[in-house]
Amino acid sequence: MKPPPFDYSAPRSVAEALELLQQAPDDTSVLAGGQSLVPVLNMRLAQPRALVDLNRVEGLDGIETTPEGRIRFGSMVRQRRLESEPLVRDRLPLLTDAADHIAHLAIRTRGTVGGSLAHADPSAELPAAVSALDGRMLVRGPDGDRTIPAGDFFLGPLTTAIEPGELLVAVELEPPPPGSGSAFLEVARTHGAFALAAAAAVLHLDHGGRIDHARVALAGVGGVPYVPAWLDEVTAGEAPDGALLRRVGERVADEVEPFDDVHATAKYRKRVAGVLTSRALAAAAYSAGERVAA
Ligand SMILES: Cc1cc2nc3c(=O)[nH]c(=O)nc-3n(C[C@H](O)[C@H](O)[C@H](O)COP(=O)(O)OP(=O)(O)OC[C@H]3O[C@@H](n4cnc5c(N)ncnc54)[C@H](O)[C@@H]3O)c2cc1C
Repeated sequence: MKPPPFDYSAPRSVAEALELLQQAPDDTSVLAGGQSLVPVLNMRLAQPRALVDLNRVEGLDGIETTPEGRIRFGSMVRQRRLESEPLVRDRLPLLTDAADHIAHLAIRTRGTVGGSLAHADPSAELPAAVSALDGRMLVRGPDGDRTIPAGDFFLGPLTTAIEPGELLVAVELEPPPPGSGSAFLEVARTHGAFALAAAAAVLHLDHGGRIDHARVALAGVGGVPYVPAWLDEVTAGEAPDGALLRRVGERVADEVEPFDDVHATAKYRKRVAGVLTSRALAAAAYSAGERVAA
């Protein structure tokens, strides 16, 4: 199928892109890598009057360390770079592991970090990984900049806190401190398919090998990434042993509210979510230096 007709513009700066967006904020879509938007247009699930293409906008494709030590990804950074950039592999290996599960090389080469976050597919890997890292989205609009924590950014399936007329310009992530480990585990129909369920885990151990911080985010088990807020309370000061991590997984499986669809039942997804949570925390503890079986 072919997309419906639309006006097309290719601005060179963020300011110019924002100006174009203000002309019809409710009726203009932003084009990033096009890997989700173009199929949506071709299937006529959306019929915007205009597209503003970000591919020629300068300054949106950098990966840099901020003065505060966070790593800032411009929204047009291609997903593929999460696998290839030494800074990301060394300081945020969770993103590298998550990116490895996104679609296929050709799609990751074109698809962007910002596009995946703005599209907010409940089964997508990057929203879960960014939620596990407690990331902050930087959104720019006609009234200036807003910083939105991941927990407030994802509002529902394919819905975020970005308002019409605003652009996601970057996401900032704080690398976990030394002594941390992370893991991204997924069950999908085939490698590269969207997750039936996935778990992103980050865990920090103290000098005695006990957990002093743990965070998990799951994809595929609800409208937005699921982050158990009680995890630190239950795990802090404990050794990351199999019994503890299984208990955590069981509680997660009880709490998540996935959907049934043609690919899997909600019951199956709940069970997988629990098992993946335990295993991702065990793998994160292992990469932080502790061998655990869960
Ligand atoms: C066959 C296939 C398999 C796939 N499998 C997976 C998978 O397993 N896991 C996965 O996570 N994804 C998968 N994807 C989707 C892929 O990751 C997309 O790249 C991603 O979802 C969207 O990124 P994009 O840069 O292509 O954005 P686009 O398609 O250009 O845009 C997506 C949406 O985000 C909006 N948008 C984009 N950038 C911005 C911005 N800076 N500010 C505001 N709004 C913005 C657009 O207006 C649009 O509504 C798959 C895609 C295909 C075609």
